[in-house]
Amino acid sequence: MAKEYDVIIIGGGIVGCMVARFLSRYKLDILLIEKEVDIGMGTSSANSAVIHAGYNALPGTLKAKTNAMSSTLWEQISAELGVAFNRSGDYVVATNTDQMNTLGELLQQGKTNGVPEMEIISAYEMRKREPLITQDVAGALWAPTGGLIDTFALTVAAAENAVLNGTEILLDTPFEDFIWEGKRIIGIHTPRGAYKSRWVINAAGLYADDVMHKAGVRPDFKIHPRRGEYVILDKADFELTRETVLFPTPTEKGKGIVVTSTLHGNVIVGPNANFVDPKEDKTVTKEGIEEIWTGAKKLVPSINRRYIIANFAGLRAHGNAPCLTPGINYTGDFIIEIPKEVKGFINLGGLESPGLSSSPGIALMVIDLLKDAGETLLEKPNWNPIRETRPVFRHLSPTEQAALVKANPSYGRVICRCETVTEGEILAEIHAPIPATTYDAIKRRTWTGTGRCQGGFDMPRVVKILSDELGIPPEEITKKGKESPYLIRRTKDMGEEA
Ligand SMILES: Cc1cc2nc3c(=O)[nH]c(=O)nc-3n(C[C@H](O)[C@H](O)[C@H](O)COP(=O)(O)OP(=O)(O)OC[C@H]3O[C@@H](n4cnc5c(N)ncnc54)[C@H](O)[C@@H]3O)c2cc1C
Repeated sequence: MAKEYDVIIIGGGIVGCMVARFLSRYKLDILLIEKEVDIGMGTSSANSAVIHAGYNALPGTLKAKTNAMSSTLWEQISAELGVAFNRSGDYVVATNTDQMNTLGELLQQGKTNGVPEMEIISAYEMRKREPLITQDVAGALWAPTGGLIDTFALTVAAAENAVLNGTEILLDTPFEDFIWEGKRIIGIHTPRGAYKSRWVINAAGLYADDVMHKAGVRPDFKIHPRRGEYVILDKADFELTRETVLFPTPTEKGKGIVVTSTLHGNVIVGPNANFVDPKEDKTVTKEGIEEIWTGAKKLVPSINRRYIIANFAGLRAHGNAPCLTPGINYTGDFIIEIPKEVKGFINLGGLESPGLSSSPGIALMVIDLLKDAGETLLEKPNWNPIRETRPVFRHLSPTEQAALVKANPSYGRVICRCETVTEGEILAEIHAPIPATTYDAIKRRTWTGTGRCQGGFDMPRVVKILSDELGIPPEEITKKGKESPYLIRRTKDMGEEA
């Protein structure tokens, strides 16, 4: 039997990583397992990256509660973890009287949820703030506490901070089953072996239903993923007048197609919301792009299809869709609980939007659940909430850049021309506390390959750097692990070519 832990977390998305980070404050031996070759490859890597103000969730729900608990923490968390965050505010735009009525209801709901400083602004004011907005605008709900975050960096930073405070992370390690002692869960089985633990936390995202079913919990609960498709616009071609988020007025289908800035400078458009089967279907369809483009044009008529440089899709862990599971009592809320029927298990499920915005609140609720269950959580005297950041060349002044290149010439070699990412940055990520070992892991951390050429220039160079640093042949370097190699066979010596 391998080492025994106090807490095992299944799943390295933003929720699992944030729970690990918050729990690492206490004298607990923590293990996080992730089935993929990197953390943050699931839903946490494909969303709108909006920190919701908190007016969308129904009052009294866990969605509303955890969103509100998290909202005021973002300045502190982003500063401690060294992650870009902008409390840019967001707008919900109405184009007719019915929609204006909906804005009034949203304003009321937001007030009930404790969202501060919201107001309905006139069409004139909205046009003044964002001249690109449709001339049909009738007014807008303005929520200044909404914001934008770098979702990729946040997951990595939370996990890194947890690791620096003693948490162990095993990548490429899928949960298979529980170890039981009567009605108590005392550990897990994985292909790497068994790990014992006093607590196991289910943070498996799209697969949280499978995990809870293995624990004998909520057999009727089923996740029906709802796919959201997006397009990314070239930042050289299009930006909003100020960094912000433009939502349409929501319908029963959801929050609708958003036109939003990102903290990397690109505007993204999406998502739609369509149920998919199988669970991992992230296909971007022609119809999907039509749907989101039509939605975006209603908000910002001047955007042009020629600005599109990439597309992607994310999958919401939507629980028990009534249309797909007739007869099920669907609440649509997050599940955050210690189920009565089993001991040693914390169950997190149905964490669709606003799961990113709510992740610190979810982590705090997990701490409360542990305390309520009788755990004495003693703080580590040496807990360090600060994660040391690594240089981002394009963010430095010319003087700082020159000093960095002098100290370490690898920062003088630009690998990604569109986004000005240097070899030094890539090397730093390969040797970071959670090493980046695939092209996509480098991309999520450094932003290489995300510009207009979409990796056409940098990809072979990144593969070569990964191969050299990891000491494995280039043919074994993958895009995202398992069955995603770039190179099939060697035609000439890659070392000489590069
Ligand atoms: C289209 C879209 C737009 C969204 N926009 C927003 C937004 O703007 N703001 C917001 O707040 N929220 C948004 N969300 C929701 C948000 O992205 C999610 O709530 C959040 O990312 C969920 O995080 P998670 O950690 O629960 O799930 P995930 O990120 O999916 O992480 C779960 C992890 O568990 C791992 N795992 C699964 N099974 C196993 C196993 N058997 N063993 C080991 N590991 C396993 C997975 O590989 C994965 O890494 C959006 C979601 C979508 C799809």
